[in-house]
Amino acid sequence: MAGRVIFHIDMNSFYASVEQSHDPTLKGKAIAIAGNPKERRGIIVTCSYEARAHGIYTTMQVHEAKRKYPELILLPPNFERYRAASKAMFDILRSYTDLVEPVSIDEGYVDVTELAKDRHALELAEEIQQRMKSELDLPCSLGIAPNKFLAKTASDMKKPMGITILRKRDIQKKLWPLPVIEMHGIGESTAEKLKRLSIATIGDLAAANTGLIKEKMGKNGLRLQNRANGMDDRIVDPDSIYDTKSVGTSTTLPVDETDEENLKAIFRKLSEKVANRLEAKELAGPTVSIQTRSSEWQNRTRSITLRNTVWKRDDIFRNAWQLFTKHWNGEPLRLVGVTVSNVAKKGEMTEQLSIFNFQEHAKEEPILNLMSKLEKKFGKSVIIRGTRSQQTTSESETSFSKDFLDDHDHERK
Ligand SMILES: [Mg+2]
Repeated sequence: MAGRVIFHIDMNSFYASVEQSHDPTLKGKAIAIAGNPKERRGIIVTCSYEARAHGIYTTMQVHEAKRKYPELILLPPNFERYRAASKAMFDILRSYTDLVEPVSIDEGYVDVTELAKDRHALELAEEIQQRMKSELDLPCSLGIAPNKFLAKTASDMKKPMGITILRKRDIQKKLWPLPVIEMHGIGESTAEKLKRLSIATIGDLAAANTGLIKEKMGKNGLRLQNRANGMDDRIVDPDSIYDTKSVGTSTTLPVDETDEENLKAIFRKLSEKVANRLEAKELAGPTVSIQTRSSEWQNRTRSITLRNTVWKRDDIFRNAWQLFTKHWNGEPLRLVGVTVSNVAKKGEMTEQLSIFNFQEHAKEEPILNLMSKLEKKFGKSVIIRGTRSQQTTSESETSFSKDFLDDHDHERK
């Protein structure tokens, strides 16, 4: 681990910047992407720096934003456009080295240790930033540090178009005075816990009694304390994001089952088992799959990738059952299974989630329920034409927070 040079690259107000690059007349203007711009209670997902200057911020409600700055230009999200931009951005990074680890649609780590033997890391960072600007017309910030945690922290320090070097010897001055909530990896609940231990700043955490931290906060606490001391030996792993860890269970049925109510009860039970196992491991994942085997030994798997992660029984069951009723043709079944995949530790995952989640979740559900009722009553073809946009939200292809990775995946095969 000695002498590593890690970049963290973070695109600045990514969706808004992609829109401005797509339509240059939007440049220099206060624009915001809203889940549903026509909806008063819709939420601002991201906004340009020009909008921020007028007090607009992410999670603000549309009507509030409009009141604050009536000239604000509201746009609906265009996922395809963002995915394409994301791919282009990672392509640029991969033109330097294979050691690129995407973390989300607009940020990733690059291990440039080897490259930095021949050229100055700062000069390399400047070149990357310039290429993002000239080739993609997108602004980004870079952090340069000896490990991931410090690189991530550094890229946050200067936005937009910043480049920040953070060395271990800088942390005392730059990191320790900050409140713990500012630290990457610490959310509100952890900050609350630390507060009860009289730990308010990152410096307090760094200096805290290790035994106490371990006793009160477990392994995670120790990890955070290490980070507070500038230590982080995680490698830049290009494959980590493809790690399709999953938690699933299946059951062989005593008789070839055709009764929908019985199957429903079985799916509920399987969902509960999966939920218990996820809970025990503190895992959550965005992909729900079902497996079926017919009495003719036809194996089928169907899955849906959601914009949010699930871990609770009811959420798993609802999605599994929806998948099942959508695809089951009534054939007798011998085995059924339920799996949640792409799982990660709950705390780490929620931070990466897009703001789309809670807004869209609430809204889509009634629509999906209504649609499945309509489907049952009139058959599928009736509603596809009229409600296409809603229809696609239930399909795995449009899931957002992770599906940009498909593009990488194809590239890599
Ligand atoms: Mg960003």
